[in-house]
Amino acid sequence: MKSLFVATGNPHKTGEIRSMLGDAYEVSDMTAHPHLPQPEETGDTFEANATIKALAASMALEDALVLSDDSGLEVDILDGAPGVISARYAGANATDADNRTLLKEQLAEIAKQTESPLFTGRFRCCMVLAQNGRVLGVFDGAVEGRLLLTEDGAGGFGYDPLFVPEGHDSSFGVLPVEVKNQLSHRSRALAKVVAWLAEQS
Ligand code: IMP
Repeated sequence: MKSLFVATGNPHKTGEIRSMLGDAYEVSDMTAHPHLPQPEETGDTFEANATIKALAASMALEDALVLSDDSGLEVDILDGAPGVISARYAGANATDADNRTLLKEQLAEIAKQTESPLFTGRFRCCMVLAQNGRVLGVFDGAVEGRLLLTEDGAGGFGYDPLFVPEGHDSSFGVLPVEVKNQLSHRSRALAKVVAWLAEQS
């Protein structure tokens, strides 16, 4: 079986990637290599941050095929925020709940001044494949949708309970994980990764 190292410590992401790749790859992540350097995400785009993470891990793990992912939520009325700081929107040590609270407060404030508010946005993901300190490919995915002012469900992670993907009436906090995995930003980026890997073999 081929191996893929995912440069993340977020078990939700690894789980999604593992279930999307199926049996073709043995997927591991930072939890199996806690000594690995965790570089600062200093880029101002998803691609820049994904590249930082992929290169750092691929230099530390000789010959390993490394996949990194950087992702986040863009809200149009907030000029694309939280964007690359999605994970730390409410502060350096913010929890997912803190970040959702800040976003809800901001949208509620804007909604007071808008007659029929429709807050559009998207989850965006950039994946980078690297090996031995060299970028092999860059792959993007996005899912469009709208933001809610109150949480719908408690499933998923991050901003899931506040995001309703296009074509659905429930949030990612309610929709079954299989549904999310079919249309998520990560699955769309990952589909491109899988196609690229298939072309190489
Ligand atoms: P990253 O770990 O730097 O990619 O930061 C990703 C952050 O964006 C997460 O901590 C979440 O706040 C948010 N995010 C990314 N993907 C998702 C998703 O699928 N659902 C909900 N929130 C997400």
